[in-house]
Amino acid sequence: MTMDQKPLVEVTALRKFFPIKKGLLRRTIGNVRAVDGVSFSINQGETLGLVGESGCGKSTVGRVVLRLIDPSAGSIKIGGTDITGLSRQDLRPLRRQMQIVFQDPFSSLNPRIKVGEIVGEPLKVHNVGNKKDRAERVAQLFQRVGLRPDQMNNYPHQFSGGQRQRVSIARALALDPGFIVADEPVSALDVSIQAQVINLLMDLQRERQLSYLFISHNLAVVEHISHRVAVMYLGRIVEYADKTSLFAKPLHPYTEALLAAVPLPDPSLKRTKHRVEGDVPSPINPPSGCHFHPRCPYAEARCKVEAPVLRDVAPGRQVACHLR
Ligand code: SF4
Repeated sequence: MTMDQKPLVEVTALRKFFPIKKGLLRRTIGNVRAVDGVSFSINQGETLGLVGESGCGKSTVGRVVLRLIDPSAGSIKIGGTDITGLSRQDLRPLRRQMQIVFQDPFSSLNPRIKVGEIVGEPLKVHNVGNKKDRAERVAQLFQRVGLRPDQMNNYPHQFSGGQRQRVSIARALALDPGFIVADEPVSALDVSIQAQVINLLMDLQRERQLSYLFISHNLAVVEHISHRVAVMYLGRIVEYADKTSLFAKPLHPYTEALLAAVPLPDPSLKRTKHRVEGDVPSPINPPSGCHFHPRCPYAEARCKVEAPVLRDVAPGRQVACHLR
């Protein structure tokens, strides 16, 4: 990957507010500010890890970037094409380039449809080849993700959790996309199976130059797969860095706290950094100033009134904190 490479995915000042309606007239009385001004880019063949606790808005980012839900503001470019305002019809051909793998392979696969049909459905929807071509393509995909082609005639309940996630990955690959949003793809799997699925995703990336937006609350997994990492808190990115720098020296107190919560391999070792306490506040009425101030061990008076901007602190590294 070269530094002057044009990004495959460019997201600028993305916002997604969900209106809160009340009363007979369904008046809007407020907004859930799920995504509040998020910008990032992903190069071809690169993985951007998007991390944060549950409720920080990261899954909404994934869905908005793919236009599964519409943004409130900002722009999304895929392969240089601005898809922000495209109609559903105009989006259709571009859907081939971008796919999603969900967290829960149980609920994302229709239990009454044979898995071969599930994997082949995108090919059918986009009129790719004839029935025989599609069956051959599905068999190849099964083999590539570590399943046997004869398993195409089985139903989802006949597969283990790890195998079902392999089915989901095969389906995502069917149309040969360039960009995949992986939303907590291994969180529902046993730890022993997680590494196998992550390694499969990494092998596929090397083979096909895939770009991933890898969404996870699990920093250990993110560290393994990502090239760069964006840390998200209450709808905003608070730190953005290459993986090595972020894990060697987190700059934002929230990143520091997330890392402090990752179990150490040796239980006799002690963490020296603060762990994050309490829950993520409501995105309906976020705290004033720096959203993190009620939970931040370093908060000062200024933090309660002034929101820190995400600023460059080193090449390719940004942080939103008054003190760093
Ligand atoms: Fe903590 Fe203040 Fe930095 Fe926010 S701006 S992370 S409250 S020190």
